[in-house]
Amino acid sequence: MVDRISEEIAEVLEAVWTLEEEDTATIRNVADNAPVEVSKDLIARLSSEGLIMVDEQEHVHLLPKGRLLAEKIIRRHRLAERLICDVLGARVEDSEAAACEYEHVLAEGITNSICTLLGHPRFCPHNKPIPEGDCCRSARDEVEPIVVSCDQLRVGESARVAYFSAREHSRLLKLSALGISPGITIKLIQKWPAYVVQCEETEIALEPEVAHNIYVWRTPAE
Ligand SMILES: [Zn+2]
Ligand SMILES: [Zn+2]
Repeated sequence: MVDRISEEIAEVLEAVWTLEEEDTATIRNVADNAPVEVSKDLIARLSSEGLIMVDEQEHVHLLPKGRLLAEKIIRRHRLAERLICDVLGARVEDSEAAACEYEHVLAEGITNSICTLLGHPRFCPHNKPIPEGDCCRSARDEVEPIVVSCDQLRVGESARVAYFSAREHSRLLKLSALGISPGITIKLIQKWPAYVVQCEETEIALEPEVAHNIYVWRTPAE
């Protein structure tokens, strides 16, 4: 049941969650915001499955079972938005449609991997909270590698490149040409007057903006 709810039900739960954040989850608003036809039948189905409850003022409330499902959908959607904005470099306005596609295909394990890659972000690009996953909770308790931008490394620290933020396309392409690419280990050897990283035997000077757009896996000091 949890993994195989219909897309229709998922869309309604998502709309209710989002509207509840603004305290405006009425039947009418749910119908206006969900990208599917919200028929009386559909609402009745969600109610009979114990996912939602509609009160006398026509306000829709998520019941615990519905909340649990909605939380997962919202988490996938907002992490997909972060992925699309931060890693793929799309504009916030364009991330929405793509995120809607992603939320249906991301498996639970992949979702947690993406969350970890992005450093367990707490907010989506629209500043709405991203529900926590197991990965976020265990990241707080355990010392695990985290992703930081290259300019946050200490001088002398080595780290493996995770991804480039693709907004600076031409410059970042140049990085690949210089041998800096995801999976490669680099060492920060100087921050001032310019950032210099060592990559294999080569020393490469980076503009601050470029250093800021290289994200690396940092292994926290013991
Ligand atoms: Zn968002
Ligand atoms: Zn996480």
